[in-house]
Amino acid sequence: MVMGKQIWAQRLRVPVVALLLSAAAIAPALAREGVEVGERSGFADLVPAQDLEQTAKAQYLQILNTAAEHRALGPPDNAQVRRLRAIAQKIIPFTFEWNERASQWKWEVNLVGSNQINAFCMPGGKIVFYTGIIKTLALTDDEVAMVMGHEIAHALREHARERMGKSTITSGAARLGGALLSGWLGIDPRLTDTVAQQGANLLTLKFGREDESEADLVGMELAARAGFDPRAGVSLWQKMSAANKGAPPQWLSTHPSGNTRIAEIEANLPKVMPLYERARQAKASEAPPDKAP
Ligand SMILES: [Zn+2]
Repeated sequence: MVMGKQIWAQRLRVPVVALLLSAAAIAPALAREGVEVGERSGFADLVPAQDLEQTAKAQYLQILNTAAEHRALGPPDNAQVRRLRAIAQKIIPFTFEWNERASQWKWEVNLVGSNQINAFCMPGGKIVFYTGIIKTLALTDDEVAMVMGHEIAHALREHARERMGKSTITSGAARLGGALLSGWLGIDPRLTDTVAQQGANLLTLKFGREDESEADLVGMELAARAGFDPRAGVSLWQKMSAANKGAPPQWLSTHPSGNTRIAEIEANLPKVMPLYERARQAKASEAPPDKAP
């Protein structure tokens, strides 16, 4: 009987230790302020981040060059370019928590003259806003921050990489998928081909509903932490829906609007409003007095 008890004690020790360890691991996660999203998708790991970022960088350059050829690239002294860059500067420091690579990214923000109601952030932090989205929707700084936060969130959560990772498996590239799964990440040259082929579609990539919802939530948290009013998410989508009654915004083709989206943003406001209030108070206490003493 004594033997039996000892065995029980030994058997129990492991789960108790495991419980304590997992409780310790969970505690800080519970204490975290802000939105709750799941783990990053493991599919992303099937495509090397560096390859995708390089592809994105090349495509971004191409977009900028084409715009410049058409005299449609906003110069650095343009008021809207300065405004976009100032908003990005506030948001970027809060991105590192979501993806450690982001601190090494060579972030770029550019404005392209086009009536398209569109904006994007490519993997590696390459952002473009079209003049159409700012002008047609008469975006406030808070609304710009919500669009930017949303697009940045796609890049941080590596949704493009996840989509590509999934299709390396589902497109019948079973050999490739198998090789990758066994740990040959980045060695097979066919992988680079896959990235290059699919990279061509980086801009038209349509994310799933889950990724969209994640980008909405992470985006509004980023914006709130940076001191932008997350309630602008609601007005942004209202404006977007209203614009949809005329010529459908490009952005809506990849970002289905609707009341569910607005409802989800509203439901998550209580999680991010305290972050926004705190950021605003911090900014107010930093601000120099109106008149020098
Ligand atoms: Zn999106």
